[in-house]
Amino acid sequence: FDAHFGPYYGNGWKQRGVIIVLHDITDIKRLENMRSDFVANVSHELKTPITSVKGFSETLLSGEVTDEETRRSFLQIIYDESERIDRLIRDLLHLSRIENKVSPLNIQDVDLVRLIHTITNTMTKAISEKNLEVTLPPSTESVIIEGDPDRLNQILLNLIANAITYTGEGGSIRVSIEITSSNVRVSVSDTGIGIPEEYIPRVFERFYRVDKARSRNSGGTGLGLAIVKHLVESHKGKIELDSVEGEGTTFTVIFPILQ
Ligand code: ADP
Repeated sequence: FDAHFGPYYGNGWKQRGVIIVLHDITDIKRLENMRSDFVANVSHELKTPITSVKGFSETLLSGEVTDEETRRSFLQIIYDESERIDRLIRDLLHLSRIENKVSPLNIQDVDLVRLIHTITNTMTKAISEKNLEVTLPPSTESVIIEGDPDRLNQILLNLIANAITYTGEGGSIRVSIEITSSNVRVSVSDTGIGIPEEYIPRVFERFYRVDKARSRNSGGTGLGLAIVKHLVESHKGKIELDSVEGEGTTFTVIFPILQ
């Protein structure tokens, strides 16, 4: 709130009015809050693995642990936690590059069916360990869209990896493609743990996780869906989420067909 009084120049010129300038600071305040929440979240996410790296290396350095097996298990924890820090920083840099639109899209013709098969092939170990039944569009077909191959890969990789992570032993995952007159819809469905209704609107937020412990154990940073949403939007697409707790989840990415 600023109040500027009209100038009074002496020589008979009288003050005639008051100008009141109101600045709407709600947007600025909201941005500031978002920024400080973000910094608090990042600090917290980094603090957990760093505390662990510090603690275990201090114990090793003290020379108190003489048993070789215990030493190795401590070193493994230090290694895993450093990997976690590395992953977190990579995801953060990635998110900031997308948000600041640093690198332009490298638009090419991309075959979605081939992409889905390539991604799933890299996940066969996790799929067979959990004994999941996976249904994909037939590899004899092709669905070509215009997009950035690396980014489309990242979108589908995140969605398929989440479907695997959040589905229990013996469950099913289905990736399907539907083409309408105006768009291409790619759905990733699973018969996993689902997302409680009240959390559905929040899962695209940075660092938001329904079950922090579960996500952390599976190596998640809580940034995957935030990155996916940005990447989909950079392709002028939309992402929808349908989920029933205890039954399963479907993420659908909708890409417009460019005329
Ligand atoms: P994370 O690294 O924790 O997986 P994401 O941003 O990819 O982070 O997902 C955010 C949260 O959304 C997850 O922690 C999980 O709670 C929920 N989620 C994502 N995908 C699924 C899914 N297919 N089924 C159930 N919950 C999911």
